[in-house]
Amino acid sequence: MSTEFALIKEYFTRSTSSTDLSIGDDAALIQVKKGHQIAVSTDMSVVGIHFFQHAEPYDIGWKSLAVNISDMASMGANPKWATLSIALPEINKAWLASFSAGFFDCADTFQVDLIGGDTTRGSLNINVTIMGEVPTGKALTRAHAQTGDDIWVSGSLGHAALGLAFLQEKVKLSTDEQDICLRALHQPQPRVSLGLALQEIAHSCIDISDGLLADLGHLLTASSSQTAMKGATLQLDMIPCLASIKTRIHEPHVQQAILAGGDDYELCFTAAPNQRETLIVMADQLGLSLTRIGHINETGKIDVMLNDVHLTITQKGYDHFAKAT
Ligand code: ADP
Ligand code: MG
Repeated sequence: MSTEFALIKEYFTRSTSSTDLSIGDDAALIQVKKGHQIAVSTDMSVVGIHFFQHAEPYDIGWKSLAVNISDMASMGANPKWATLSIALPEINKAWLASFSAGFFDCADTFQVDLIGGDTTRGSLNINVTIMGEVPTGKALTRAHAQTGDDIWVSGSLGHAALGLAFLQEKVKLSTDEQDICLRALHQPQPRVSLGLALQEIAHSCIDISDGLLADLGHLLTASSSQTAMKGATLQLDMIPCLASIKTRIHEPHVQQAILAGGDDYELCFTAAPNQRETLIVMADQLGLSLTRIGHINETGKIDVMLNDVHLTITQKGYDHFAKAT
């Protein structure tokens, strides 16, 4: 057997549960469930940009799949199948074993089958395509946020950005905070159960990968029409983050981590105010905090308030929305 096929067999071939024909042929075969649509998304992870050259291969494996699963979560889709195209500079067995352990731990956690891919030589580059099922017409999208909607976020924001800042020696964190922030950075937990539960409740949804302001900006743009530009007012002190960070909320770099830090993979969604009770019960059932951080209006911009004071936001990532207005 060629080295390439031996490698695929050893590191990337596992049994599958929802696939008719998996790795080994020229294409995989999957069954589309009646009354469902397939949601498809792809994300590339490049060494030096999305992860450090010497990052733990386990974490690279976990995260390269997790960020794709997060796109299914934000669409309200149930992730089912993934393909993995990988360029490797060399065959390093220890690296591959650890990478595939991280990838498959994430796949098992979210019951995703790896059904194919491509393997070539090149500088380390990982491209995952994910496919998921959603009942026809029930997908959540960035569009359809309504004026007066509440804006909600899951979990806490800024952990991953703080973890990265810690690794870059830009901030100091206690040991407990390091655990939380580095885990958030290296092994993000896509909010699949939440996305599914929001199908009938949210008007619009996006996952926060580029920072809250940037991603909420995308949601507002998608929900705007030529005559009515959607905007948002956010209460900075309502945004959930580490307790020790909250006490430093007036510091610009802390505000930056919360508002514009990337890699959170929490969901930001909008829902009518009459859904508040339902969402509080849902948070309890999912064991995941859901926090109301503001509301949708028609100002065509994002206003961030801290104790009745308008903050001037200069962070990058806000630009996209500024251009659209
Ligand atoms: P082809 O020559 O038809 O493109 P390949 O030699 O690239 O086929 O791949 C052989 C089989 O292994 C295919 O089923 C492909 O989907 C699968 N495969 C290749 N690389 C990977 C990978 N990194 N992860 C999962 N499956 C892979
Ligand atoms: Mg091929």
